[in-house]
Amino acid sequence: MNERTQALLTELRQGRQTAWRNPRWLPFALVRGLCDLVVSEEDIAQAEARLRRFAPFLCRAFPETRATGGLIESPLAAIPAMQQALARESGGRIPGRLFLKKDSHLAIAGSVKARGGIYEVLQHAEELALAGGKITPEESYEKFDTPEMRAFLGQYTVQVGSTGNLGLSIGIMSAALGFRVVVHMSADAKQWKKDLLRSKGVQVIEYAQDYSKAVEEGRRQSDADPTSYFVDDEKSVPLFLGYAVAAGRLAGQLAEQGVTVDAAHPLLVYIPAGVGGAPGGVSYGLKRLYGDHVHCFFAEPVQCPSVLLGIATQKFEKANVRDYGLTGKTEADGLACASPSSFVTRIMTNLLSGAFTVRDSKLYDYLRLLYRTEGEQIEPSSCAAFQGPAALWQREETRNYCLEHGLTEEVMEQATHIVWATGGSLVPEEIRAAYLNTFLPEDV
Ligand SMILES: *Cc1c(COP(=O)(O)O)cnc(C)c1O
Repeated sequence: MNERTQALLTELRQGRQTAWRNPRWLPFALVRGLCDLVVSEEDIAQAEARLRRFAPFLCRAFPETRATGGLIESPLAAIPAMQQALARESGGRIPGRLFLKKDSHLAIAGSVKARGGIYEVLQHAEELALAGGKITPEESYEKFDTPEMRAFLGQYTVQVGSTGNLGLSIGIMSAALGFRVVVHMSADAKQWKKDLLRSKGVQVIEYAQDYSKAVEEGRRQSDADPTSYFVDDEKSVPLFLGYAVAAGRLAGQLAEQGVTVDAAHPLLVYIPAGVGGAPGGVSYGLKRLYGDHVHCFFAEPVQCPSVLLGIATQKFEKANVRDYGLTGKTEADGLACASPSSFVTRIMTNLLSGAFTVRDSKLYDYLRLLYRTEGEQIEPSSCAAFQGPAALWQREETRNYCLEHGLTEEVMEQATHIVWATGGSLVPEEIRAAYLNTFLPEDV
């Protein structure tokens, strides 16, 4: 292990807020060919087409998707007041313009999981219905919203292990399609997420252990049942595809808002990472569209930087935060994954620009700051991403990344920063109020 990785590990072990530049980053032209073998343009196009086929069903079953024609998509909003406050608070500057991608407000599941999780359930339902002769690709998929189809899919089970939000997205969509659903929830999962799922008729099994255990047990129980399908967050390609579709949609929104992305107008994206699937899929999609003009950074809690460890040590899914003296415990339930995805840590090895770690106390500070400046409230896990723009230009590591990639101060003035808000709209009112009043000691 080289000196820089040693220094990183020392910093991580101490639970300090890290700004890391990925030494394995490569120009996209050099890795595109290899990437294509794993997830191709055609795969992403097919995922987009599948979501379009299901749009008529979603319009019927989830009327809140009618406004977007049955597509589950979130707004992109400039947040200038937050940008100013964040710069002031972090004691520096954030050159360029800051936007919020509000997946916190995605229909149906209120989190980024409404992309990957729902996509994988729809794909599974389609495969079963096609194989069972219940639908043809030419028919309107409104047919999925019928008692006959629900009775057919009711012969099958969908299972998933989750810290909360993935369970919500899989649970809500599977239940709407008629599947039996079992969600294996880790100890980190918030009570309200379990309550909400149970209210939809979803079977929730609770574990006193962490996320890896919930996934392992869910996978085991599902594998023992030939009618059961397991959504495997630790290595799922369909989940990844559902997330990757976000890129093309974002490109449309950027164009609509007159935002250019090229060498003189870089795009910097900051996304919170749990197991890595959501940030990986979104980033991968963006790299395919914008190549070296987009710079993707992940954000993780100081006690649970599993994706960063998996990539930096090249131990991939074998990396576990506990092997580095960390607890894996965090208020950011959506990010509480002690080991990362095997597939995502590999595919992102040469694509990721860098990563940030953030203390739990800061999550609430950012949550309050966003609320005060923009009147928006998102969940604590989501707030991890604000550490990106706050630290990028202040910390030597990431500032050097910028300078090495031609992102001089002058170019950065033309930059677009996107903080990916990954969840929040389903948080119950009394818990929102409690979040605004949560103050943790500064060193937590
Ligand atoms: C799941 C989740 C993430 C991260 O997604 P992974 O695929 O686990 O990396 C980030 N934020 C929130 C709110 C989430 O629910």
